Amino acid sequence: MPNFAAFTSVTSFVGDRDHHASVLAAALGQLQQVEDRIALIAAHAGGAVAFSTSLGLEDQAVFHAIHVSGVNVDIFTLDTGRHFPETLDTIEASVQRYGLPIRVIAPNALDLEALVKRDGINGFRASVDARKACCDVRKVQPLRRALVGARGWITGLRRDQAAGRQDVPFAAYDHDLGLLKFNPIADWSLAELEAYIVKHDIPVNALHARGFPSIGCQPCTRAVAPGEDIRAGRWWWENLDGKECGLHNRHKHQKA
Ligand code: SF4
Repeated sequence: MPNFAAFTSVTSFVGDRDHHASVLAAALGQLQQVEDRIALIAAHAGGAVAFSTSLGLEDQAVFHAIHVSGVNVDIFTLDTGRHFPETLDTIEASVQRYGLPIRVIAPNALDLEALVKRDGINGFRASVDARKACCDVRKVQPLRRALVGARGWITGLRRDQAAGRQDVPFAAYDHDLGLLKFNPIADWSLAELEAYIVKHDIPVNALHARGFPSIGCQPCTRAVAPGEDIRAGRWWWENLDGKECGLHNRHKHQKA
């Protein structure tokens, strides 16, 4: 474990939130072990910390690190209602492996009914706006609800996951949500991630072995060919630019 006394200045800092986040980001960057990074986040977030998991490789690695570090983190996932059965199986396998509860957050039923009434059950294919409206009801609004009361939000974002994630910091203040957003494996390569998964025999979604490096909702995710961009299978009918669901790119300046 690192000597957290070295980061006393972090906890005593009461000034600008962006500066506070940058101090935390620098502190996180000094730590080599993800478990130590998680421990530092829990100690210095200034309150309750939540972890949103999509059950992907990155999030499974972070889940493992949370378990090892033994810190108290609220773990939740967004059940959009359109997930692959294999993704739901991964929730079950993870709970059994780690003995930690995963809160399953559903979309607001009335909002979902109104969306489907207006756009149709598969209306997300009609346009980018319709797709974003679906992601908003099924993901973004539930995320906002799940994060109420949290002072810190942990994600599994990595810089080399996609062109739009190259500047993901270890920590940033999310002015929209009013909390600190932490990305403790931001600097990991895919090779490092896969090595960590194998070393610790972490349960993963069975779809990864079938050509799905990035897994979202079933109707919006396809397998990719070897050498294709990791996220090429997400919303593949849209342009490569901006293929995000809105969970991490509400404001570009948040570097999420
Ligand atoms: S990924 Fe597809 S099905 Fe899932 S919320 Fe977004 S548009 Fe809707």
